[in-house]
Amino acid sequence: MDTITGLTCRECGHAYPLSPLHVCEMCFGPLEVQYDYASIRQQLSREIIASRPASLWRYRELLPVAGEPQVGLHSGFTPLVKADRLAAHLGVKELYVKDDSVNHPTFSYKDRVVSIAISKAIEFGFDTVSCASTGNLANSVSAHAARAGLRCFIFIPANLEQGKVVGTTIYGPCTVAIRGNYDDVNRLCSEIADKYGWAFANINLRPYYTEGAKTYGFEIVEQLGWRFPQHVVVPTAGGTILPKVAKAFEELQQVGLMESGPRPKIYTAQAAGCAPVIQALHNETDLIVPVKPKTIAKSIAIGNPADGYYVLRAVRDSGGWGEAVTDPEIIQGIQLLAQTEGIFTEPAGGTTVAVTKKLIEQGRIPRDESIVICITGNGYKTIEAVLDQVRQPLLIEARLADFDQLYASLSAEQKGEHQKINPEELH
Ligand SMILES: *Cc1c(COP(=O)(O)O)cnc(C)c1O
Ligand SMILES: [Zn+2]
Repeated sequence: MDTITGLTCRECGHAYPLSPLHVCEMCFGPLEVQYDYASIRQQLSREIIASRPASLWRYRELLPVAGEPQVGLHSGFTPLVKADRLAAHLGVKELYVKDDSVNHPTFSYKDRVVSIAISKAIEFGFDTVSCASTGNLANSVSAHAARAGLRCFIFIPANLEQGKVVGTTIYGPCTVAIRGNYDDVNRLCSEIADKYGWAFANINLRPYYTEGAKTYGFEIVEQLGWRFPQHVVVPTAGGTILPKVAKAFEELQQVGLMESGPRPKIYTAQAAGCAPVIQALHNETDLIVPVKPKTIAKSIAIGNPADGYYVLRAVRDSGGWGEAVTDPEIIQGIQLLAQTEGIFTEPAGGTTVAVTKKLIEQGRIPRDESIVICITGNGYKTIEAVLDQVRQPLLIEARLADFDQLYASLSAEQKGEHQKINPEELH
């Protein structure tokens, strides 16, 4: 059953035993989990996967947890929604939304990576778990820690949305807000991790944590009926999810679950107010110049992305591209997804939708090929971002005559005429 063989440095290849280490002692490169793919090929089939519960653990041979999973038993396997109304709006033929806004238990893609990190923390015998977070990671670590009965310390920037803050403190961790941005929080946490020896999901457990993001890619392919989409648009913050989605597609071929052949083109989406990876991509350089974030998309506001280089590499190797969009475009993206597909995402998702629209308009993504948009977080946590932009309810007394009068005064747009289905547009 054991399919994990150790850790190796992504840069110099030096091998390490499975332990809470994340940086190579030889060259400071990041460490990555190694698997015995030949053995996984023998053990795993599409049928075995299909026979398992609908959670991210259905791909457990490709995840770095040796024993029984300890937490996150209901995380992952979120809907892949065929988005025909959004497709019609964008003028494309085949479009899907991979919807982690309804991930269990804290409504973002972070429940995937945290399921692995906390299971691993328990395996290593830690009694205290922690993280540096832009919000969603804080929600997920504190929820999983509560469920596992672990002590928990959370570090966040002081300017987060109320939904993200209460969505952390409700689980009872010790929550510390830092006067500064995420990059300041992260720097402090590296020092705390060294000094206090706690399990930081995204620092010393990072090699294990990041592997959880592969499940997002596995699920897209399985839910499409074991088929690759041609284009996948992924948001980028620290740069965890995008390279791991690319790795997921590669691994499916490596273990024989998918035939060899072309893999999807992958596109990175950032907010214009924090787009260091897009800048490097557009400038055709590997050098990522850190920026000071200024955007409403706080969950992806990381000015100095730890794995930005690997995002560039995965995007370029796949033949994809990337774009940045402004805060007003992000809000339009949130509204567009809500009003065409009934999915309420946070600014990170609005960014991904708006970037997809831009890439289609630029001709970077062809209109007649299959596209997946990665929706990674939930809009109910970030009400502040859209509060000024949405229509207020119309207030009346509980009298039919009052409603009659109101209805007569409404414009066609207020009556929702534009939202009626035109059957021609659906396929
Ligand atoms: C963390 C996060 C991301 C992506 O972050 P990476 O560090 O690049 O993996 C995207 N969307 C949301 C909502 C997030 O919370
Ligand atoms: Zn090394």
